[in-house]
Amino acid sequence: MEKKLTALPGDKLAVSEEYLPGLNVYDDSGQLRSLVVGTVQRDQRKMEISVRPAVKAGTLKVGDVVTGQVEAAAASTGSIRIYYVNETPTDKGFTATLMLRSREGGRGARGAPPVKLGDIVRCKVQSLVNGIIHLSVDENETGVVFAFCGNCGRPMQRGGANRAKCDECGNVEERKLAADFGKVPVRP
Ligand SMILES: [Zn+2]
Repeated sequence: MEKKLTALPGDKLAVSEEYLPGLNVYDDSGQLRSLVVGTVQRDQRKMEISVRPAVKAGTLKVGDVVTGQVEAAAASTGSIRIYYVNETPTDKGFTATLMLRSREGGRGARGAPPVKLGDIVRCKVQSLVNGIIHLSVDENETGVVFAFCGNCGRPMQRGGANRAKCDECGNVEERKLAADFGKVPVRP
């Protein structure tokens, strides 16, 4: 039996004693919450709860704001799976390339990547060339909006201008944070 329910980012869906977190679901101190707008799906066989992003397709333009999850991150580029275009959910399943330039002021000189695998990031579409979507996080409102602790896996809080901290284990990580990083529910 599958119950249907629409979830918003941050919505509590279940507790971790009941279900395992599946796609687009994260474990917030035992509360399973949604990362996206979409339909809640319960798999009773695997005892897994997941959220399928709501369907809404759009064509990207330069200057659009997109929000997605980091699927891969290296020193100079990241791969982002896009879930929202201009705050509207999309399930097109497309990925884009985030260009990670070294930040002004030399703060990133030690080479800490500004985004990490699994982060939710808000980006601006910088260029669309030969079907390749290039994104940037240079502006104040763009950057990481939600991050998991690399040490214990819990959601992180703001610990400074471009620093995320984990209240659970004390871990501190550098990120390029969006101005509203740390607010729940996450605004796409
Ligand atoms: Zn932690």
